Amino acid sequence: MLDTQTVDELKSIVRAENVATGQQDLLCYSYDATQMEYLPDAVVHPASAQEVAAVLALANRKGFPVFPRGAGSGFSGGALPKAGGIVLVTTRMNRILRIDTENLIAEVEPGVVTEQFQEAVEKLGLFYPPDPASLKFSTLGGNVAENAGGPRAVKYGCTKDFVMGLEVVLPTGAIIRTGGETYKGVVGYDLTKLLCGSEGTLGIITKIIFKLLPYPDAKKTMLTIFDSIDGAAKAVSAIIGGKIIPTTLEFMDYATLQCVERRFSLGIPPEGRAVLLIEVDGDRDLIEKQAEQIQAIIQPLGLVQFRAARDNAESEQLWRVRRLVSPSLRDVNPTKYNEDIVVPRSKVPDVIRRIEQIQQRYDIPIVNFGHAGDGNIHVNIMIDKEIDGQEEKAHQAIREVFQAALDLGGTMSGEHGVGLSKAPYIELELTPDQIAAMKAIKHALDPNNILNPGKMFPWG
Ligand SMILES: Cc1cc2nc3c(=O)[nH]c(=O)nc-3n(C[C@H](O)[C@H](O)[C@H](O)COP(=O)(O)OP(=O)(O)OC[C@H]3O[C@@H](n4cnc5c(N)ncnc54)[C@H](O)[C@@H]3O)c2cc1C
Repeated sequence: MLDTQTVDELKSIVRAENVATGQQDLLCYSYDATQMEYLPDAVVHPASAQEVAAVLALANRKGFPVFPRGAGSGFSGGALPKAGGIVLVTTRMNRILRIDTENLIAEVEPGVVTEQFQEAVEKLGLFYPPDPASLKFSTLGGNVAENAGGPRAVKYGCTKDFVMGLEVVLPTGAIIRTGGETYKGVVGYDLTKLLCGSEGTLGIITKIIFKLLPYPDAKKTMLTIFDSIDGAAKAVSAIIGGKIIPTTLEFMDYATLQCVERRFSLGIPPEGRAVLLIEVDGDRDLIEKQAEQIQAIIQPLGLVQFRAARDNAESEQLWRVRRLVSPSLRDVNPTKYNEDIVVPRSKVPDVIRRIEQIQQRYDIPIVNFGHAGDGNIHVNIMIDKEIDGQEEKAHQAIREVFQAALDLGGTMSGEHGVGLSKAPYIELELTPDQIAAMKAIKHALDPNNILNPGKMFPWG
């Protein structure tokens, strides 16, 4: 619990109207996209790096924890105030500071919403590819802190691949710059890369310099339906083995298709067992040729339908199938544990088979879809908590799903991060020496452990 004097000091830093301690305000910042909830003691909305620095300096002096938060759309509890203290919200720092069309870079504050940034650069004929499905509400600061990815990561990479430099307030309150505006730079450790994906545990990002690309000339979307999961999974490696790197290669299994079809009747043929939604972009003539090559490559793999969009409107129709997945899933069961394992893309068929065995062993529905092009599968374990024993089964199944990914040379999470929800499993993937090295970095930067404590590692 914060004492009155501390609350007054916070008010003198960010002004009284930007500090909330009322129960209703606290409730609004007590949850994210997981189903966990923790109530903070106060919510603080700073407007600049200097204000963030003053809040962190105060936190060190008084010994209260600070939990950075963007839009609170995280899937691993990273922004949740598990130890009380304050939630520091970045949404007042929401300016696009500049878009430099000569050097193809942009500088933004962390609270800018991802889609608004994309639209702003697209108006100038430029392209910011990272496209998490949460882009309508997630913040760029949250995207950097989680190294968010999306369907276009197959060709373009994730958020960190576009971050050139940062302004960061370190846990002790020092403001530093990392990286910069040059495409090359090798002086000192690469703190930019260290901070990308650090889940708000090493510093609070207050400015970001992004690299931009020219907007692609054209795109071509294809919805391809296979008579087996194996066929669809093999198609992923076959396309890339055929030296075509699509912009997106999205996978949906039979359970996913059934959910969507039951609700929205999209005309998926009855023999369809899996879908790949494929998109290529670039030069208009090249993408037409690539679409033909892709059809020829996947034809022998049990292809039962190939629909290619002729224009943007048809492309939107095909993407609808993918976008309807999330709203359809709750029909299976009310509670969803959404994991996002990654395996080398050639191992996608093996991991899907392992997940099928886990589903049979525990007798709970598991629905798989995701970014097969980079081996990132969203494994949705759907349970009804009212049914006795289902929650325990789900946790055992999650552990086995993680183990399956690791056995195949993969990782437990490609996008959602560790936060609170995966901290108990991190020792499955990282050795004690790796964890000790990471904790040493955390301790060096945050000696009083005031920034986002309790996240990432089992602190014990
Ligand atoms: C419907 C839905 C779809 C999603 N789809 C995707 C997807 O396709 N790909 C994907 O990668 N993720 C996805 N996510 C997860 C989530 O949207 C992303 O992780 C996103 O990057 C979080 O942004 P946010 O602003 O909501 O961050 P928050 O949830 O507020 O915070 C996330 C983490 O970042 C830290 N943080 C936030 N801002 C800062 C800052 N300025 N400085 C330092 N640390 C900070 C927080 O402490 C926390 O640890 C999805 C979530 C939902 C609900």
